[in-house]
Amino acid sequence: MGPAGNCITAKEKGTIGSFRRISELGLNAQEIEFVRSIYMQPKMAEEVGEVAKELGISLSVHAPYYINLNSQKKQIIEASKKMIFDSADRAERMGAGAVAIHSAYYSGFTPQQTYEKTKEGFLEVLDKMKSAGIKNVKLGVETMGRWSQFGSLDECMKLAKEIDIIPFIDWSHLFVRGKGTIDYGKVFDVLKTLKLKHIYSHFQNVEKNKKGEFVDVHKPLDHSPPFEPLAKEILRKKIDITIICESPIIEADSQKMKEIFNSLGYKL
Ligand SMILES: [Zn+2]
Repeated sequence: MGPAGNCITAKEKGTIGSFRRISELGLNAQEIEFVRSIYMQPKMAEEVGEVAKELGISLSVHAPYYINLNSQKKQIIEASKKMIFDSADRAERMGAGAVAIHSAYYSGFTPQQTYEKTKEGFLEVLDKMKSAGIKNVKLGVETMGRWSQFGSLDECMKLAKEIDIIPFIDWSHLFVRGKGTIDYGKVFDVLKTLKLKHIYSHFQNVEKNKKGEFVDVHKPLDHSPPFEPLAKEILRKKIDITIICESPIIEADSQKMKEIFNSLGYKL
């Protein structure tokens, strides 16, 4: 459990300062946000990984937002593959378990065409990762909350069954796709068929637009979706999971989630 990006309340700036703050707060994970750029050189990723290990912080990485493996433009697809590869390279060096990826937009193609193109892109990156000896980190195809984006749970599952990637579960995105509903237990039942050792996920709340529909705009934890039923389901099913908080108050809400687990009798 921990923040997406560096803690806002860290005294020292930068990733390592954030790790120290995470330890102070009794949290144990952080996602490294390469969402705007892959700002870490390979050596820095290794150093950051060492400190995380010393402090018992597990890591994941978020790949850039600009990725679209199904773009109409060839150069964007090529750049996307490179961004996924570079994110995976840094993630492997820092000992992160998974990379969250917003893989594609439908970009005017059918869902089936989008699926094929996205799969093809991932296969190329996986090949390149294999040649480069990257073997521990998993590419995670994120469940997406916008209708223009590839990434329903079904699409992520199908891809994970066919190639060596994992679904990266964003709970609030699934809640938006479910038009303000989510059955946590059902999602775990679907995931179970993949026999994953560990599940990587994001949790935050989302806003409603003027029409009263939930949209993928992140907000602090409240009840859309509620966290406690998810925590209960995790404990009941004994799920091994990382939950990264992507709310605007990343560490405060991470602590809130931790307290909910505590109140259910589970000590983080
Ligand atoms: Zn994401």
